[in-house]
Amino acid sequence: MEEKIENLLKKMTVEEKAEICSGASWWKTAAIERLDIPAIMMADGPHGLRKQDEDADHVGINESIEAICFPTASALACSWDRDLMTKLGEALGEECQSEDINILLGPGVNIKRSPLCGRNFEYFSEDPLLASELAANYVKGVQSLGVGTSLKHFAANNQEHRRLTVDAQVDERTLREIYLSAFEKVVKEAQPWTVMCAYNRVNGTHASEHKRLLTDILKEEWGHEGFVVSDWGAVNHRDQGIEAGLELEMPSSHGDGKKAIVDAVEAGTLSEESLHRAAERILEIVLKAVEKSRDDLDYDKKEHHKLAREIAADSMVLLKNEDNILPLAENESLGVVGAFAKKPRFQGGGSSHINPYQVDTAYVELSKYSQGEISYAEGYLVDDDQNDIELIAKAKDLAEKVDKVVVFAGLPDRYESEGYDRETLEVPPNQNHLINELSEINENIVVVLSNGSPVTMPWIDRVKGVLEGYLTGQAGGGAAADILFGRVNPSGKLAETFPQKLSDNPSYLFFPGERDKVEYREGIFVGYRYYDSKKVKPLFPFGFGLSYTNFEYSDLKIEKEEITDQQRVKLNLKVKNTGDIYGKEIIQLYVADPESTVIKPEKELKGFSKVELEPGQQKIVEFELGKRAFAYYNTEIDDWYVESGDYEILIGSSSRDIRLKEKIKVESTVELPVEYTINTNIGDIVSEPEAEKYFNQLLEEYLKGTELMERLEGRDDEMMEAMFKYMPLRSLAMFSEGAISRSQVEEIVEKLNKKL
Ligand code: BGC
Repeated sequence: MEEKIENLLKKMTVEEKAEICSGASWWKTAAIERLDIPAIMMADGPHGLRKQDEDADHVGINESIEAICFPTASALACSWDRDLMTKLGEALGEECQSEDINILLGPGVNIKRSPLCGRNFEYFSEDPLLASELAANYVKGVQSLGVGTSLKHFAANNQEHRRLTVDAQVDERTLREIYLSAFEKVVKEAQPWTVMCAYNRVNGTHASEHKRLLTDILKEEWGHEGFVVSDWGAVNHRDQGIEAGLELEMPSSHGDGKKAIVDAVEAGTLSEESLHRAAERILEIVLKAVEKSRDDLDYDKKEHHKLAREIAADSMVLLKNEDNILPLAENESLGVVGAFAKKPRFQGGGSSHINPYQVDTAYVELSKYSQGEISYAEGYLVDDDQNDIELIAKAKDLAEKVDKVVVFAGLPDRYESEGYDRETLEVPPNQNHLINELSEINENIVVVLSNGSPVTMPWIDRVKGVLEGYLTGQAGGGAAADILFGRVNPSGKLAETFPQKLSDNPSYLFFPGERDKVEYREGIFVGYRYYDSKKVKPLFPFGFGLSYTNFEYSDLKIEKEEITDQQRVKLNLKVKNTGDIYGKEIIQLYVADPESTVIKPEKELKGFSKVELEPGQQKIVEFELGKRAFAYYNTEIDDWYVESGDYEILIGSSSRDIRLKEKIKVESTVELPVEYTINTNIGDIVSEPEAEKYFNQLLEEYLKGTELMERLEGRDDEMMEAMFKYMPLRSLAMFSEGAISRSQVEEIVEKLNKKL
């Protein structure tokens, strides 16, 4: 293959190389007939295949071919299930192969900075580790079928408001620890064939021409082997994009992109070498895609629908289950209320919109399980926020007659979509009103939610059960019935914090910014990193979710008490299902650094595992941690750095339910560069044992025989010590009453620098 590409590149003219760097149409790359270079086809993504034929667009207006609509990423993430993501990826890969799609445009690993981002339904989590682990397995699944993926939107595309022009201003440490690390792990572990650059600017430069992001970090530091494709229409200056590492422009710019490249090469402002490199990366993927494309694959729609149901059920999160109102008993009478029970909201709007081949409704699926009476009332209008008196009255009538009421509520399409952000966390007022009204009549209320992103629940104390479904895909109705009737034991846990109110969110004051500028002033304190550190009580914490059974955690054992930052450490614990039904538990590992001298969140997720347990069964759960589990991004050395000291390993069932705790000592093997100046605080010198020793030696040398030395001898004064601690070296000259001169201070500084 390498040779073939080399030969092709030798034969290609500048024009031809420029030609393949821009799309030929909405979804296809350019073919060069003269050299038998074929075109390949892409399609959205991420939670299903959106293959459009003739009338293409990228905002979900025109219908695409029928496909399976799986749950969207915000739901998927709650499964915390790597294997399930691989399975999903494989299914999507099969669909792509059957429909001649070479690259599926997804997954999206942008971090949920604010719950208001209109596109959060397409993203996994507020935590980069969780997002990247799930996305990496999705990518591996799709690509195992010989279909490429496009990891998007690189980078800092965390809002829809002014997404084409906004400049996301993020400090380096935050960028590295939160926003880039989600991409980093996927690139390093799964090598997505392509990475899609974002529309927005990052610290002043368009993501589509950001050399530091696209080349220095993505290609050189992380080793990305594929090509970068622009988000549809994200190109600003095509030639500068090539130079920065944006290989493919999509969709077709009708010759403009090609012309800009050729002109720049002719003018000498773009090197032929850069163009050559871009063409080479594109050819590598195009030829690979063609080689791996298969005609023998078809997929079974029914099977995929079944998988969509399984995934949806494994992703739903049981948030409340007072008095064990769930699971429902088959013989009790049931009132099903809410338009979503018959007209479900199961996916988001925009480029990811799938044309589902079948949609299951909760009402029909619940009816299949129920042996008692089951009836329905619409309760509210989906397209209107006003209370509908008649619909409410009918729902109340129904609630009066039944044992239990299941209300299907959530966000209508118009409340959240690609292209714009939400303005509130509330569900439509008519839905809140309905739930309140029903709770006056029947005390057995369960609310099932469909929404792409967190909502507030003003009625939370008035209902007994809440099942969070997120956007469940086409088979969500059946999955909800499975959980509600206990055919499936819920095992999902939240991949993001549900705040009590919008203003509790850390980005609240700075989102969505001022005109074309958004500053990420909350820094690394995103999601639970903020709520936990600031001790703000959420409505539901990150990592939370109930089960119909119980799990007991015990015997946390860490293989070693002490490691260096170059070593890895294994640890394990026991988890037991103490209830009487089969269940799955998600065990979370957080690391805390109570001794840190830098500002850090109270704890950070560094591992997780999902285990299946029969009643009474116990399993050993293992984890392995390496340097990154203890490191922060140190901007002085531009690298990950571990401070020497004691760290805490916290094992929890959620971020707010830590069950086991152990300590480990980690020793750094990296010395941070230190430069002493006359303004170095004495306390900072003496905090390092070696420096302290030498500094004391120097002091003695200089003070020997002085009157001050005599006065100081034998004194152990806490106040003096505290004062000295934050005194810069230059102050020695003044406070030593002439014993040490200014030029001697300078000598001390020189000696410290030389010796240490
Ligand atoms: C979206 C991408 C999508 C592309 C193609 C853009 O508007 O941001 O996520 O893949 O369109 O439809």
